[in-house]
Amino acid sequence: MKGEGRNLVVLGAGESGVGAAILGIKQDWNVFVSDFGAITAEFQEELNSRQISWEEKKHTAEKVLAADLVIKSPGIPDTVPMIQQLKKQGTKIISEIEFAGYYNTAKTICITGSNGKTTTTMLTYHILQKAEVNVGLAGNIGKSFAKQVAEENFDWYVLELSSFQLDDMHEFRADIAMILNISPDHLDRYDYNMQNYVDSKFRIAQNQTANDWLIYNLDDELIVKEINTLKKQGIQLAPFSIQHMLEEPGAYATKEQVIINIKEPFIMSIHDLALKGKHNTQNTLASGLAARILDIRKDTVRDSFADFVNVEHRLEFVAKVHGIEFINDSKATNINSTWFALESMEHPTVWIVGGVDKGNDYTELMDLVKEKVKAIICLGTDNRKIIDTFTGVVENIVEASSAMEAVAYGYRLAQKDETVLLSPSCASFDLFENYEDRGNQFKEAVRSL
Ligand code: ADP
Repeated sequence: MKGEGRNLVVLGAGESGVGAAILGIKQDWNVFVSDFGAITAEFQEELNSRQISWEEKKHTAEKVLAADLVIKSPGIPDTVPMIQQLKKQGTKIISEIEFAGYYNTAKTICITGSNGKTTTTMLTYHILQKAEVNVGLAGNIGKSFAKQVAEENFDWYVLELSSFQLDDMHEFRADIAMILNISPDHLDRYDYNMQNYVDSKFRIAQNQTANDWLIYNLDDELIVKEINTLKKQGIQLAPFSIQHMLEEPGAYATKEQVIINIKEPFIMSIHDLALKGKHNTQNTLASGLAARILDIRKDTVRDSFADFVNVEHRLEFVAKVHGIEFINDSKATNINSTWFALESMEHPTVWIVGGVDKGNDYTELMDLVKEKVKAIICLGTDNRKIIDTFTGVVENIVEASSAMEAVAYGYRLAQKDETVLLSPSCASFDLFENYEDRGNQFKEAVRSL
């Protein structure tokens, strides 16, 4: 689809918006970028150097409404008035990924799920790189997909896709798609209707055909239910499970091994995997399926599984201080991710939890808390829900108002051979800038003990 001088309006000038604008110019669109907030100096410079016109701190209605096509940043909800107006006049609104898909000729591995996207994307990318595939990394992480489509020449991409990105995707087709899990998250953006959120995740498979693959979690009931409705598309299905043995094509884990059954079986001891914990075993199985579908050598997959270093703030070991282990899982911003963190704890645990809650039901953690948690440190401005849920269950519940204070409590409440785990189940912006800031302050506080 050539632009032929038609009007492309890009709403939101972050990494994805600026990337889309760069691809738009290259494809002969008449591009205008509009951001309701401020545009960073760096992005302004990128736009200026390519003579792309832009505005900040406003949306000029006449310019935006003159669009033939709109690319919307995933951060902008459909409810904002400008989007409503565009919809009313029938203007097509798509995501940056969809737009890049119009021009992309490389194959794609697309990864979504409520949790584990980044870990699985990075692991898959790591394997492909080690196998010397000419591969790019994009989507929710790293550089914009559209920008790379404009400027790079990869054979494959590994794309991390959030449900917000999937929402404005219509024609995009993934060669290999992965759905890791679906648990309630961001329901505020889906009219508090779980099915809307499920549908959004399944857009990843919407245009797949019999030449394509869908890798999915067979242990997730919500996913399995939807898979049945997809069967008519004839997509090749590769499930993974940590509960059942699976034949080819599929992958599963026992207590001791991971087994990936694509063509010849690949078997590896679970103890040799760099990523620990059941949730990470699921992520490993999903990546392994993609790698073996691509025919990557078993030795390369094995080496990659063994030497992968995960990104920060995901069950990250920080330090052992006087025999007390400190773990930073600041990225755990919902109940499900904390469930897996607690599940993987092997020693009595002092649990640091709290922040801005997106509708959490803490009782889902009750059994694990009873079994593993010896004390709770609340780290948020409003901790009532946590305190109400666990009073009488956990003897020691205290409140902290900074990472430093939380770590000091942790150090006092834990003993030798016990663990202090930061796994908040909540967003961070009441006390911190973002989850990275929360994790970094936690790590600094531990290191200064
Ligand atoms: P995402 O990109 O989907 O947010 P991450 O890989 O950044 O996922 O991990 C986010 C949080 O979820 C971390 O606390 C991590 O330990 C946990 N997690 C990772 N993989 C899974 C999984 N498969 N299921 C549940 N939780 C997971």
